[in-house]
Amino acid sequence: MANFKYFADINGETFELTKIRHNGRSASKASNFSGRTPDGELVPATRMIEFKSNPSKHVCDARCMNATGKIMKCECSCGGKNHGKGGYMAVAA
Ligand SMILES: [Zn+2]
Repeated sequence: MANFKYFADINGETFELTKIRHNGRSASKASNFSGRTPDGELVPATRMIEFKSNPSKHVCDARCMNATGKIMKCECSCGGKNHGKGGYMAVAA
């Protein structure tokens, strides 16, 4: 069984969300979910990660950071936090 984790990228910081709720629409993209940051703020999810139940917990690499796709799978030590983050970060010139 895979676990889904939800993350929000706010001002360059990544928060893992808890108390996830779905907005009731038929789609189940990350944007249809919202949850609370560790501070208790309710924010929309920007990324949804399928985290393997037996993760190898290897160190994150570019493949993880630059992952794309509707549902991203991760099994590295970041726990999904860095997964696909490359696509949400402004690229420094
Ligand atoms: Zn990762």
